[in-house]
Amino acid sequence: MPFYSTLPNLPRVIPDPDVEALGSHIRSRTIAAENPYKPINLALRRDLPELLDFETTSCDPVIPRDELIRIRNNVRDQYQSLDIEFRNIGSGKNAKPFMASYNQVWSAAEGGSYCHYQNDADVVQEILNLLDNSNRLYEKAGNLFERNFDNSLQAMRDGMQRFERLVGQTDYDVRLIVNGYKRFLETIFQFSLYWGMDPQLDNLIREYDRLTDRSKTLYDQGTKVIQANFERSFTRVRNAFESLKSAHNHWNHVDGFIGFNRFEENYPNLVNEGVDFGRYSVFTTPPNSQSIQAVGSFFRDVNGWIDGFPEFVLFNSSRGIKRGGGLPEHKFFAESRLLDVLRLVGDDFARQSSNDKSHYEYRNLFITSLSYPHNGKMPPHAEHRKGLDCDLWTRRIDQTEASFDEQRTKDLIVSILKKKGVTRVIYTHEEIVNSANAAVPDNAVAVRLSGHEDHLHLDVV
Ligand SMILES: [Zn+2]
Repeated sequence: MPFYSTLPNLPRVIPDPDVEALGSHIRSRTIAAENPYKPINLALRRDLPELLDFETTSCDPVIPRDELIRIRNNVRDQYQSLDIEFRNIGSGKNAKPFMASYNQVWSAAEGGSYCHYQNDADVVQEILNLLDNSNRLYEKAGNLFERNFDNSLQAMRDGMQRFERLVGQTDYDVRLIVNGYKRFLETIFQFSLYWGMDPQLDNLIREYDRLTDRSKTLYDQGTKVIQANFERSFTRVRNAFESLKSAHNHWNHVDGFIGFNRFEENYPNLVNEGVDFGRYSVFTTPPNSQSIQAVGSFFRDVNGWIDGFPEFVLFNSSRGIKRGGGLPEHKFFAESRLLDVLRLVGDDFARQSSNDKSHYEYRNLFITSLSYPHNGKMPPHAEHRKGLDCDLWTRRIDQTEASFDEQRTKDLIVSILKKKGVTRVIYTHEEIVNSANAAVPDNAVAVRLSGHEDHLHLDVV
């Protein structure tokens, strides 16, 4: 039999990591004091102050030169700090120090308009230049943040591509999805930036949000696909098992030959489905654990049935005993100890029948029923299940035939009763049965049972 005797592998299971927990694991490694993932507030660039000229207008109050110089000096100091903050940006993505400094420049400028004397225009112009320069730095800082952000974002884009490929390919192993997601999360970076600094930067921040959202969606998709595949695989295993169960039932209760063949035919399917099922790696949810346990018990049942299929030996005709004509070979299997007894009985019968030399059906016993090769129900018999039962016919023992011979029948039964291992002979003829039992008082018994007028049944242990 080409049967497996071991269980196929069962799926591996891993604990189900919460998606949020995965994310926060990464976050806790990179997070700063504030949530770095959300850009903060709007940071609009300021417009240069309006200049109000003196003498020709009635602006009031006019700012004295000393006061303008004091403002200019403050603005200049703050501008120098801003310039340092700008150069500190480097490859960073934290705009807070720069923006704080930028606001300092503008608060040093003290308001939106300067009413001044014409002679002080140089000082005013210097203030305006400093403010203008601070706006230029603001623009350059925006570009710099955009470039830095884009560089970091590239790793996320690449990570997303890898993750998408993985999700598209994965069929069996949920660990690949979990690890792919973890690898993507490692590309997520921290930043503190402002909406409105730079339109391109705003777009990049939106892309960042889309990528992180998409990664969660992909994770869910990937794990759901594997889960659905796993459930389908389980259903296929269960269906394959049900087919075998029904075949085994047929073997046991309806017809052992048909049932066994059906079993043998369907078995490879169960093995294939079982091997496929064993390839999965899924989360340890209660339903998954139940499916895995169920498949384990399917295979234990099936292996138990396989162990319960005996392998009997085919009877070959020998002197005085033949297979019944017109009957299929698969009805002539039995334990070899029964076949040994039958050969001896055939031998005896051939000797007893020396006067019937010309009559084939008189000088031979014909077996009409043994067992199926692998046992199972053999209709219409209730017995013939253990490879230890045999039905015999010949014209000399057939009470429905003119050639029936009482003495020869009794001799045959006595010869059978004397064989080692024989437990019972069943035949419907009271006198013959009684006299055979009397002839072999210490051995097996002959039993008178109706339905055995034309043949006899014997069994061995
Ligand atoms: Zn029988």
